[in-house]
Amino acid sequence: MSISLRRDRAYVNGQWVTAPDERVFAVHSPATGELIGSVPDLGPGETRDAIESAERAWPAWRARTAKERSAVLRRWFELIMEHRTELAALMSRESGKVITESLGEIAYGAAFVEWFAEEAKRAYGDVIPPYSSDRRLVVIKQGVGVAAAITPWNFPLAMITRKVAPALAAGCPVVIKPASETPLTALALAALAEAAGFPAGVYNTVTTSDNEGVGSELCANPAVRKLSFTGSTAVGRQLMAQCAPTLKKLSLELGGNAPFIVFEDADLDAAVRGAVQSKYRHNGQTCVCVNRLLVHRSVYSAFLERFAAAVADLRTGDVLDPQVQVGPLISEKALAKVQAFVEDAVAHGARVVQGGTRIGGLFYAPTVLADATPAMRIAHDEVFGPIAPVFVFDTEAEAIAMANATEYGLAAYFFSRDVGRCWRVAEALEYGMVGINEGLISTELAPFGGVKQSGLEREGSRYGLEAYLETKYLCFGGV
Ligand code: NAP
Repeated sequence: MSISLRRDRAYVNGQWVTAPDERVFAVHSPATGELIGSVPDLGPGETRDAIESAERAWPAWRARTAKERSAVLRRWFELIMEHRTELAALMSRESGKVITESLGEIAYGAAFVEWFAEEAKRAYGDVIPPYSSDRRLVVIKQGVGVAAAITPWNFPLAMITRKVAPALAAGCPVVIKPASETPLTALALAALAEAAGFPAGVYNTVTTSDNEGVGSELCANPAVRKLSFTGSTAVGRQLMAQCAPTLKKLSLELGGNAPFIVFEDADLDAAVRGAVQSKYRHNGQTCVCVNRLLVHRSVYSAFLERFAAAVADLRTGDVLDPQVQVGPLISEKALAKVQAFVEDAVAHGARVVQGGTRIGGLFYAPTVLADATPAMRIAHDEVFGPIAPVFVFDTEAEAIAMANATEYGLAAYFFSRDVGRCWRVAEALEYGMVGINEGLISTELAPFGGVKQSGLEREGSRYGLEAYLETKYLCFGGV
């Protein structure tokens, strides 16, 4: 079955809708600047309509058996995979992600739909031995209700499926507000959801340039029982405050400041490979990208030399070319931020070993900075760009202290071949996820999420379904 993925309308209550005043906003390619399309600029009123349609659809959706919901999710998964080539081209054009990574994101994003199609059937409850012989104590799991999802541009598909697949599996209708940079991939996904057979009102996508207006409605509306947000820590804090009056359940997947520690006993070639993969994925614009490289003094020069050589080999260019590994930054603002980080680091004594310049349009050369220190902004702020600052350390305790010296706690990585050290360091790192001799760790099978100011709750895996379930206790008396 071939479905047209190019949509210029939003999807509310099973209908493809325009804004009441026909207002639209444009979507441009960050790689070429070309106009790719335009989508409806909906507001708080249309968001309310979407929420109300979801609320109306809830009783019938939750009344279906888990197996029936699972069949629709399974169909959606198959349709996403059948359309992956077209979806990937659209994603690359609107987000600037290189085509091989877009294809990878579609497989990754679809895997959450497949996984939760299965997990839908495993929302098990419990039977508790009673405290008196005439009672029976039972625990059942029920979906929380209408779930809202606010998602970022850096994973235009996977950040949606990672939230809505468990919600839909648990019997919860969804209202999605995708990033204004990448609404076309979100609408393509909605077209596939419609074809998969979600009933009207169960799956809604509200496109908007008014993030505050639409966000306020999603947070304040009491019919929304759960908000799941992926984005910056600053916006996450704001949404949490806005959700306080209605005490909404929250999942927050926020920013990171990932350390990557190379110990003196590491396999240096493996560490270089892991660092390049983790740092330059989507041009450094993922929340789990390496932000700081911490290298033991005895291997500092050797690592730096090999790492800089590998970075020099990275190919930038046309994002639709399968040979190209690094695309543009998402916006002029993001590029200016990257430049400012490099200028600040150099002013504080960093050495530019590789890159360090703009290379046309929104492209910035993959960059390596040696002799980084905690005095630099780059040590504390999330970079979200292709700059790798390399710090030096002398002891394991110092490396752990440096790694933990941040308000963030999303992903951390380290390379060592000492099994005792691997356990010690993995336990001491204050992060939600730790890669040990591995730079790429995301999978639908494992819980994704952060501690400290990187967020609340987990996505993916069997833990990801819990975020959309209520635990209800039933006490049967007079038995
Ligand atoms: P962002 O500015 O926080 O935006 C994310 C989403 O929130 C977008 O849909 C955005 O809409 C919306 N938004 C912005 N301000 C809002 C407001 N006041 N009220 C309601 N919604 C609002 O983040 P970003 O720059 O797009 O994404 C990068 C950030 O996401 C990084 O910090 C990264 O680490 C984080 N991230 C985290 C994870 C994770 O799983 N932990 C995964 C990916 C990314 P507009 O597009 O219209 O602005």
